[in-house]
Amino acid sequence: MIIKTTGIVLRLDPFSKTSQIISWLTPDQGRVATIAKGAKRTKNSLLGQYDCFYTCELLYYQTHRTSLHILKECSPLSPRTGFRRNWRASLGASYLCDLLNRLTSPGAPHPALFDWANRTLDFLAEQGGSGPVMNWAELKLLKLLGVAPTLTSCLGCGTKEFPGDRPAAFSISRGGLLCASCRNPHDTLVMPVTHDALAMLRGWADTETPIIAKRTACTPHQTRTANKLLGAFMHYHLESSLARDIALGMI
Ligand SMILES: [Zn+2]
Repeated sequence: MIIKTTGIVLRLDPFSKTSQIISWLTPDQGRVATIAKGAKRTKNSLLGQYDCFYTCELLYYQTHRTSLHILKECSPLSPRTGFRRNWRASLGASYLCDLLNRLTSPGAPHPALFDWANRTLDFLAEQGGSGPVMNWAELKLLKLLGVAPTLTSCLGCGTKEFPGDRPAAFSISRGGLLCASCRNPHDTLVMPVTHDALAMLRGWADTETPIIAKRTACTPHQTRTANKLLGAFMHYHLESSLARDIALGMI
């Protein structure tokens, strides 16, 4: 069966001297792996039609014996050439695509996730990345996957009232805030979060575009707190990622 769809290139792997395996995120097929046979040969029609972070229109033969399908045709819809001039933004895109590659599945379409990934890569290519922009991206991705941290109320009793004279407590293992009454004194995976950093994270989680995160004038302490909280959450719930350490350490 031939499938025609749109896909974001999440990952490229070598297969042979002339062929590559491409991992795509599509709106209607979920994550798809295709082999581009002979794509590195100079006269092959696939040469130059795809690369990391491109969105392409593609045509592939769906095989039923394996999960690796055969790429027939491909043409770029959005090559995002801005990444060639901005290596920091491309580090952010690498991290994002690594997350999408690990957290999506074949045959499980998520059109809203595809749409969000497409818009976010456009933004990174055109406007560049930053720590807050990548933190915004993490919050939105976690929300789309239904595993966002709870940043507005206590996980135990639901109260939204947290005394302003001391930092709130965020449970990394439980994934949200705990008030003084609900916090277990033996729980070690709890980190303090200052109210200004918390307000910043809530603001980012509520916005549909990264523009506010890009424009937020964060203090070094706020930046560190937001990054530390999300990094610990991602590490605990979604496994560690070298791509995150590189991307968030450099941009
Ligand atoms: Zn509580």
